[in-house]
Amino acid sequence: MFENSMQSLTEKGLLRTMRTVESSDGVHAVVDGKTCILFCSNDYLGLSTHPKVKAAAIEAANAAGSGSGAAPLISGNTSWHKNLKEGIAAFKGTEDALLFGSGYLTNIGIIPALAQEGDVILSDGLNHASIIDGCRLSKAEVMIYDHCAVASLAAHFKNAAGFNRRWIITEGVFSMDGDIAPMHEIAALADKYGATVILDEAHSTGTLGEAGRGTLEHFGLPSGNVIQMGTLGKALGSYGAFVAASGDTIRWLINSARSFMFSTALPPSVCAAASASLRVIKDEPERLVYLRENVDRLRHSLLGAGFKVLGGGTPIMPAIIGKADEAVRLSSALLDAGFYAPAIRPPTVPDGMSRIRFTVSALHTEDDIKGLVDAIKRLA
Ligand SMILES: *Cc1c(COP(=O)(O)O)cnc(C)c1O
Repeated sequence: MFENSMQSLTEKGLLRTMRTVESSDGVHAVVDGKTCILFCSNDYLGLSTHPKVKAAAIEAANAAGSGSGAAPLISGNTSWHKNLKEGIAAFKGTEDALLFGSGYLTNIGIIPALAQEGDVILSDGLNHASIIDGCRLSKAEVMIYDHCAVASLAAHFKNAAGFNRRWIITEGVFSMDGDIAPMHEIAALADKYGATVILDEAHSTGTLGEAGRGTLEHFGLPSGNVIQMGTLGKALGSYGAFVAASGDTIRWLINSARSFMFSTALPPSVCAAASASLRVIKDEPERLVYLRENVDRLRHSLLGAGFKVLGGGTPIMPAIIGKADEAVRLSSALLDAGFYAPAIRPPTVPDGMSRIRFTVSALHTEDDIKGLVDAIKRLA
């Protein structure tokens, strides 16, 4: 039924398949039977395998079972959910928070609930697929501004005068390029034009700012009326997602975000794990310090080896390769050499900008990073 479409993907080097990964600590793994070191995990602080995080999950599963059994508005909202919501609101410095099944579900739920008919959304050109899909589900007009380009955002505001409410949607740390949104300028434009910012903190939570609280902490900005969403599945080492915002906004989302209302609540064990992760982030700040040392280590080595490296000093470091098939070849040669980092190709990134996307974790050793760089120099 799909032979032609599949054939065309194969010819363009765009066919995707899944590998089976087994890992004991989030970084050292067996991929399709081959022992290797992962440079692609979003478990930036190594929390998914932290003894306290695992113990919290086990304890909650023993106490409450494996699933929540219903949507949050029915009987799915337990004390584990409540504790986690409070922990997130405190961490993010907001009045309240709300849990969702995943970051994808959050964006496709909150964007149409917030941005309604008669509103306008100004969305960064490199925003994540879940934001794009959230915009598609919204009845608001959507305008795309050039990636992180303040002038382009300002220019779009000139055309956004006749609308009811104005929304700016951006990622804090961009998932494909690893750069950081210019939040001072974005916040200033939001003020000037009476817009509200929706900030996707998927890759910023746990990685940016002195205490890992994210983009606003990084820039020294108040949470104000910014609506922050983030995932529990990346630096927090668990699964699920959240929105952190004012009490009013959260009350509205409880009554309007369909992916919240009509989807089963997270398992209690998952909430307990994420709560434990928030405590570890506070109690073990050395993890974030070590993550940053690893970011510098890999970045300098890649630049030293002559690669064009994108990103803004975050744990996401894409090395530009160019053609899709060359990026795929290098990625699989690296896997043979014991290092797993995926090739990122169109349509995820523009033509000619195919890349290997490296992510580092606090769990990588100096030797892991040196081994990776030696292998790339040899194989590229
Ligand atoms: C990963 C990601 C999401 C989705 O989060 P999940 O919890 O994995 O569904 C949303 N936005 C951005 C920017 C992401 O990188």
